[in-house]
Amino acid sequence: ATWLGVMGGGQLGRMFAHAAQAMGFKVAVLEQEEDCPAGQVADRLIRTSYTDAKGLEELASLCGAVTTEFENVSADSLAALAAKTYVAPSAAGVSIAQDRIAEKRFFVDCSAGSGVQPAPHKIIASEADIEAISSDLLPGILKTVRMGYDGKGQVRVRSIADVKAAFAEMKGVTCLLEKMLPLAYEVSVLVARGADGAAVVYPIAENVHRDGILFTTTVPSDHVSDAVAKKAQDAALAIIAKLDYVGVLCIEFFVLTDGALVVNEMAPRPHNSGHYTIDACITSQFEQQARAMARLPLGDVRQHSPAVMLNILGDIWYEGESENMREPAWDKILALPGAHLHLYGKAQARRARKMGHITFVAPTMAQAQAQLAAACAILGIAL
Ligand code: ATP
Ligand code: MG
Ligand code: MG
Repeated sequence: ATWLGVMGGGQLGRMFAHAAQAMGFKVAVLEQEEDCPAGQVADRLIRTSYTDAKGLEELASLCGAVTTEFENVSADSLAALAAKTYVAPSAAGVSIAQDRIAEKRFFVDCSAGSGVQPAPHKIIASEADIEAISSDLLPGILKTVRMGYDGKGQVRVRSIADVKAAFAEMKGVTCLLEKMLPLAYEVSVLVARGADGAAVVYPIAENVHRDGILFTTTVPSDHVSDAVAKKAQDAALAIIAKLDYVGVLCIEFFVLTDGALVVNEMAPRPHNSGHYTIDACITSQFEQQARAMARLPLGDVRQHSPAVMLNILGDIWYEGESENMREPAWDKILALPGAHLHLYGKAQARRARKMGHITFVAPTMAQAQAQLAAACAILGIAL
């Protein structure tokens, strides 16, 4: 069998392995952490750091293609792999998504064709940059240029004094100040592109975040007009083509209260907001990634059922604010028609840690929403 390799041992690697193995591939995972979600199901686990030359060599010589499930794998590691095997997405595409400055610049370049702009922003690399902030960027959000996720590495700021304090807090790492925009709602678009340049785009998804972490994804959402959906999907297709990207890419957008569409950021991999595709689309985002890596035709992206995805965080293992822990009532969840439970095999439930997700599929969105409400009542999650 052909081996496919993954950099990173998290849940995205685990769900990728499930999809790739179902198609007959063997999967190798490179990850340092013991007992990681992807390592538990991989055909081989190479337990080492993402920058270990020997580990990279082993992964590359075993695998016909390698991908990444962790967006901060160093571009140098991907380039080292690419010297020995096929790597998708390439180091070039991944490195743009790892750096908010490069990413914003790239989005501005793409906007000429699509008309979709990123939020107004300014690079903050020094005290002098702070003095030069124009007042129309405030209130804003100061974000670290690299390594931020789930709202970590960002601070909301109202004044120049706030920016100074927040920048000092970030210990001098380069940041980006973004204007705080009036959001009506948030959406994301998954796109995939094959080595032959053929691209497919999934239905647009509406995302609700809580405390900076994705809470639910709803597809289709009745907030999203056909015009907004088409504009976002066209922008996503333009972005993936301009990146000359191979594999699955997720692009997050904001829809503002005046209806304008703004591009936020992209993730060079399958994405949490695309988990619904496992249970609700002809081809899941993970199968699509395996197809793209193996240079096979991409699959049909059509959605066959309305779907709502609920992220399961470690918080629900705790009884209220106490330290007492118990297993959530999965038997009651699985008694709900159309509920698909996905747990990632993480040994320790910690607060704010993504432990799994549930996708509710139903003949109508109203029924899927009713199942979501029932599940939240069972699990003690306020809707
Ligand atoms: P992810 O986990 O999706 O990678 P992240 O930590 O990289 O998240 P962003 O997506 O940049 O962070 O921002 C997190 C959330 O903060 C957004 O989903 C949105 O709700 C809010 N937000 C970010 N930028 C802005 C903005 N310019 N105006 C208003 N809200 C914003
Ligand atoms: Mg991000
Ligand atoms: Mg985001």
